[in-house]
Amino acid sequence: MSPRKKVVTKKAVKTTRKSVRGAKTAKKTAAKTVAAKPRADRGAKAPQLLRGMRDILPADQNYWDYIYDTARELARDFNYGRIETPILEETNLFVRAVGKETDIVQKEMYTFQDTSGESITLRPEATASIARAYVTHGMLNQPQPVKFWYWGPMFRHERPQSGRYRQFYQFGFEALGEDSPVLDAQIIMIANDFFKEMGLPITVQINSLGTPESRQAFKTELVSYYRSRRGQLCEDCKKRLNKNPLRLLDCKDEGCRGLRNEAPQIVDWLDDGSKNHFMKVLEALDEADVPYVMNPFLVRGLDYYTQTVFEIWPEGDDDEARQNALGGGGRYDLLVEMLGGRPTPATGFAIGVERVISYLRSAEAKVPAVEKPEIFFAQLGEQARIKALALFEEFRKARIPLAEAFSKDSLKAQLEIANKLGAQYTLILGQKEVLDGTILIRDMEAGIQEIVDQKKIVRQIQKKLNKPLAE
Ligand code: AMP
Repeated sequence: MSPRKKVVTKKAVKTTRKSVRGAKTAKKTAAKTVAAKPRADRGAKAPQLLRGMRDILPADQNYWDYIYDTARELARDFNYGRIETPILEETNLFVRAVGKETDIVQKEMYTFQDTSGESITLRPEATASIARAYVTHGMLNQPQPVKFWYWGPMFRHERPQSGRYRQFYQFGFEALGEDSPVLDAQIIMIANDFFKEMGLPITVQINSLGTPESRQAFKTELVSYYRSRRGQLCEDCKKRLNKNPLRLLDCKDEGCRGLRNEAPQIVDWLDDGSKNHFMKVLEALDEADVPYVMNPFLVRGLDYYTQTVFEIWPEGDDDEARQNALGGGGRYDLLVEMLGGRPTPATGFAIGVERVISYLRSAEAKVPAVEKPEIFFAQLGEQARIKALALFEEFRKARIPLAEAFSKDSLKAQLEIANKLGAQYTLILGQKEVLDGTILIRDMEAGIQEIVDQKKIVRQIQKKLNKPLAE
């Protein structure tokens, strides 16, 4: 049986209004009796932003949109499909993928137990989740490579300092299921293209970590080199010597950096297959005119990398450029297998959005401005306010943004707001206009007003703003 339709008459509305009023009075009385409670909190400190977290306000959104749109266009051009993975994952995913001994897993993860007692973690990066998704959805059975791009917040409990946040955004490109060195070069070219589109000068720093076997042989040599100079190492590097010796190469400490120049270099330890792979990556980059700098000290922090690794630095080779790295990535041929999938070669990169924004600002780069409404809608009185909403919908259909302030009654106050917002025209709807079916258009600069039929207002404004006329 279909439900009976309720016919709403004006009389019914009036009765309802009365009963609403009645209910309001009852509510007020009830509110008075419990009013003391919220007051008790008044003296309490207002909630603060957590350390290392930021609000991204409307005035900054033009930077965010610009970066997002550029990344999305590149993804379309190179055929990378958008993927979104959950922000929360099993802790074990990151421990297995990123590596037990890495800074991220040792010190930086937001890990806690949920109410069911499971250990979960706010993702510190997205590559592990994407490899997990590849396995979860059996994507091995799709045509390879499977190419993704993503955008979203990452979480690392780092010491907040300039350019380091605890929640920060990354976008990235990942291609799984193909071991061609040309795919590495494509990934690097996309990262490079992104900065070309932004008009930001960068350098691509590149190195190869080879296979786990060649890397192991290199690690042994590296440890023996540093062990004989242990006394000159910083405290952190003394610990790294046993746990994560490759990280000795990118330590910021003066003493450690001095030792680095004489240290063995990984390229000399690459097996023939890895050397060949690396040469082909460089050849393809040369062919595509993508400039790069060979950096024998670049190791990246995470366990899952194999073969090609790279970082994007603001122009320059110095320490400052390194500390302000805009992004990084490389090949991770073992990751999918480490997560229980079948052996699947893969390559990708991540770029830090806040770092790009800060670079855009310091380079005073031209970024499309935040779009502001050119029309302010002023209404005078209850009837006009109610009528206004229907007109808002008319303007929305014509894609003309409007600003308004419904809580203001006086025209003067509303015109002041319109001025502050930089509106070109203010539409004025008063009691008289509601009855007449008209509306006023006020040219804010000239101060001239004209009366227009409400039915024609959208078309009039379209003409004035030189917008294409709606049917
Ligand atoms: P990673 O894979 O850790 O090298 O991160 C890739 C990029 O993300 C870096 O080059 C930075 O641009 C950005 N990034 C990493 N950690 C942070 C952070 N704590 N705050 C802001 N951006 C970050």
